[in-house]
Amino acid sequence: MTRRAPVVLSVLAHPDDAEILCAGTLLRLAAVGCELHIATFTAGDCGSMELAPEAISRMRRSEALAAAELAGARYHCLEELDLLLFYAPKPLRKTVSLLRSVRPDIVLAHSPADYMPDHEMASLLVRAACFNAAVPNLFPRAGAPALDHIPHLYYCDPIEGKDSLGRDVPPDMVIDIASVLDTKAAMLACHASQRDWLASQHGMDQYIEAMRAWAKHRGAAIGSAAAEGFRQHLGHGFPQDNALTKLLA
Ligand SMILES: [Zn+2]
Repeated sequence: MTRRAPVVLSVLAHPDDAEILCAGTLLRLAAVGCELHIATFTAGDCGSMELAPEAISRMRRSEALAAAELAGARYHCLEELDLLLFYAPKPLRKTVSLLRSVRPDIVLAHSPADYMPDHEMASLLVRAACFNAAVPNLFPRAGAPALDHIPHLYYCDPIEGKDSLGRDVPPDMVIDIASVLDTKAAMLACHASQRDWLASQHGMDQYIEAMRAWAKHRGAAIGSAAAEGFRQHLGHGFPQDNALTKLLA
């Protein structure tokens, strides 16, 4: 790791995914001096039953920005479309360009297996981009010069900790987030368009309560009130040491 402050980038599919899956860990990393970036592939254009895509996207970009600001993070949107995220040259180019401009030491991505294809595609795009951003002849004019390293890559828990067949996906490590859980909840509450929609569907604050219940479930594994689970990508070429747990030790 370089001498500048470590740079941490989460790249997940939709606005609010980071707040659900990894915001607690991001907050803890900020507390030890890391520079934070939160990116989403889409602006959440399908996240409303009433508003047109442009209107809900505008609202959700500003909600994501407000949530990122609570963590002191910079927000990036790659402007792909909900339910239409594919492993293809255009989104890969955008992801490589993002990595080359942010130059992260640590990247957080979706689980390769999740309930939702957008999440699985996002995971594959980020995994490929982590490797490919260091290949100068790929998209030579995308963003800044090629990376001189492959970042540490971690996969968040899938939603509800299950793959698309309903099987449990156990984490390799759980990060204690009890000290920042309320701030994580405040970040999630910034996504008012989604929270209100779910509240009217369920008649309760399902959005925040589900996040808190999951954090409590993961926390139980380490005797903490709240935690987030991760797995590290340890494929060929990727760093093998655990930068995340080292920073938060
Ligand atoms: Zn999502």
